[in-house]
Amino acid sequence: MILSEEHLLIRETAAELAVSAIAPLAVEADKDAKFPKEQIKAIAQQGMLLIKVPDNYGGGGGDVLSYTLLMEEVAKACGSTAMTMAAHALTADCILKFGSEEQKKEYLPKMATGDYFGGFALTEPEAGSDAGNVQTTADDNGDYYLLNGKKAFVTSGDYCDFVLVVAKTDATASPSRSMTTFLVDKEHFKVTNHVNKMGLRASHTVDIELVNAKVPKNAVLGSVGQGFKIAMSALDGGRIGIASLAVGLLQACVEESVAYTGSRVQFGHPISDNQAIRWMLADMHKDCEAARQLVWHAASLCDAGRDFGLAASTAKLFASEAVMNNAINAIQVQGGYGYCKPAKAERLFRDAKSTAIAEGTSEVQRMVISNYIVKK
Ligand SMILES: Cc1cc2nc3c(=O)[nH]c(=O)nc-3n(C[C@H](O)[C@H](O)[C@H](O)COP(=O)(O)OP(=O)(O)OC[C@H]3O[C@@H](n4cnc5c(N)ncnc54)[C@H](O)[C@@H]3O)c2cc1C
Repeated sequence: MILSEEHLLIRETAAELAVSAIAPLAVEADKDAKFPKEQIKAIAQQGMLLIKVPDNYGGGGGDVLSYTLLMEEVAKACGSTAMTMAAHALTADCILKFGSEEQKKEYLPKMATGDYFGGFALTEPEAGSDAGNVQTTADDNGDYYLLNGKKAFVTSGDYCDFVLVVAKTDATASPSRSMTTFLVDKEHFKVTNHVNKMGLRASHTVDIELVNAKVPKNAVLGSVGQGFKIAMSALDGGRIGIASLAVGLLQACVEESVAYTGSRVQFGHPISDNQAIRWMLADMHKDCEAARQLVWHAASLCDAGRDFGLAASTAKLFASEAVMNNAINAIQVQGGYGYCKPAKAERLFRDAKSTAIAEGTSEVQRMVISNYIVKK
């Protein structure tokens, strides 16, 4: 697949933005685990933070393919900023797809400014890969819902003005009908733990708790009982985002490795003259190109309104494993220097692992893919 002139322009704009406003802050953000507020604001000022949301709701009016191009460029500069953007965009997508007109008008324009953050709270201590096992409850008390429970790994949760909480509204129904999604403002939950991650250090991840949180009736997103459907839909779209994040990290591995091996001299010539090194570079490029094409294919199916679930899981599985396999070699070709800070390869390696876990592990992607292709 090749890009149109319009998409090439979006990629160029995103690349310029990433180089000027995101890359210079990446090392410090990683070192200090500093939330990338400034970087997110810069993306918003370019009108790209909610690039997939129509412009009448304050978004960029672009398509999913444009989003993958933006994600790749941002991730190439800073994985943490890309993850922060991905969680915010996924939350906006849920509101766009399932929200009432009133909710869309209330939340999306504010979210597009980068000053008002949204998050997605599905995972719980007992509900990770088994997302149907949500224990958080939402009891209908007539005028409002009373929410109680614990949510784990909420991206940007400590900076969020609101989060989407998936909670059980019917204990007797099957998982696909027992849950409802709520727009929960920050005064209704408290952060109980800042997760200390190995990578994506500047993307904050927190655990939250809801204790007798009185949430108004109009905070229901979609309809009562639709929570699991909303969560699964969010994850399908989100997988394209994480896959493009992986492609950005992988492209950075390629560029770092080519630059370093071209300038590092051993035995009287650049180490890139050695076939052993060249093969690693060639494999990085090959995997990056293949991953990118899978991502673009999934995005194009989504833009065409076709079923993209299989393509999204395939792209995420391939891209996240490809970036991990090659990030190891991005360190290898830099020898001892690649293993140490401030080598970018060291950060890329730590950031890469997250892509095979967040928004569904590789094992879950294999389950999704096999469910599509194995005839029952
Ligand atoms: C950086 C990051 C950001 C995240 N952001 C968010 C967020 O914003 N919102 C949110 O809700 N969640 C978020 N998550 C949570 C993420 O979605 C979960 O970590 C993920 O779904 C896995 O759940 P778990 O960690 O409980 O692992 P588990 O489900 O306990 O899995 C442990 C291992 O067992 C494997 N496994 C489990 N079941 C099976 C099976 N049936 N067959 C084979 N293998 C199996 C898994 O693949 C994995 O290898 C984030 C996670 C990370 C790392």
